[in-house]
Amino acid sequence: MKYIPPEFTRISEMSAIDVGRLTEDEARGMLEHIRWPKGIECPHCTSTNIVRIEGKAKKVRDGLFRCKDCRKQFTVTVGTVMERSHITLRQWVQAFHSMCSHKKGVSALQLQRNLGLGSYRSAWHLTHRIRLAMKEDPLASLLKGVVEVDETYIGGKPRREFGKHNKRGRGTKKAPVMAMVERDGNIISKPIKNVTAKTLKSAIREAVSEESKIMTDEFKSYIGIEKDFKDGHGIVRHHIGEYAKRDINTNTAESFFALLKRGVNGMFHHISKKHLAKYCNEFSFRWDNRKVTDGERTENAIHGFVGKRLMLKEVMG
Ligand SMILES: [Zn+2]
Repeated sequence: MKYIPPEFTRISEMSAIDVGRLTEDEARGMLEHIRWPKGIECPHCTSTNIVRIEGKAKKVRDGLFRCKDCRKQFTVTVGTVMERSHITLRQWVQAFHSMCSHKKGVSALQLQRNLGLGSYRSAWHLTHRIRLAMKEDPLASLLKGVVEVDETYIGGKPRREFGKHNKRGRGTKKAPVMAMVERDGNIISKPIKNVTAKTLKSAIREAVSEESKIMTDEFKSYIGIEKDFKDGHGIVRHHIGEYAKRDINTNTAESFFALLKRGVNGMFHHISKKHLAKYCNEFSFRWDNRKVTDGERTENAIHGFVGKRLMLKEVMG
């Protein structure tokens, strides 16, 4: 029996197998809908007086529009992380879907194979552009309620050499990362330069509302943080076996770190410390969008593809 694929208008309704079947035109239509849900708008002057340039006879690029006010031409990728990319739009949509569906992330190598990309380098650029789209505005809203704070080291265990101790944490080449997470809510995670009281406390004050309660373990750098928060500071005392006593625990932050480590530790020797923040963004994005379907998460990530063109240079360094 011939398989007749169902018709979709939204990525949020699609499964991985449907996304894999998208044509270039369908992918473009979906991106246009996500970028301009209320009708096409000129990225140069925000006019809505737009014509689609249909070019069956002439040699016209697909998906080209012209603004009747400023007379400039554009496509859906103008001003986005996709601008000037040689990757097809269907590959972009598939890559977004793939990175949004895999809890531990997808390596550039795996994407290169799955999408049939010409080089590892293009796959690598693709994944970093998608991470940029996933980056959430840190000023969007402060974390609130009960906020668990914890720090860890990324980079796997250093190799044990004969006659030497296996160094842990400080003093190794591992990178410190901190997470601040609302119970049952959103997360902020990022690499930090060290784990001193000054660094950790200023990061907490920057990201968490004063109305909150901070929850940490007994690490000395957190001592005194209650002065800045209305509901004070709950401290888990791991060393006396007080795990998860009442509501005092950092289990949520620890689950996040477990995911991040499973995704990143294995390939950390390939990714330098300067890229670690992007991996934190990616894992935080999936965490914040954990309660929706893979398709909805993909749409949410694609929403972030507009307006980050300028940040791209900086990211690719
Ligand atoms: Zn215009």
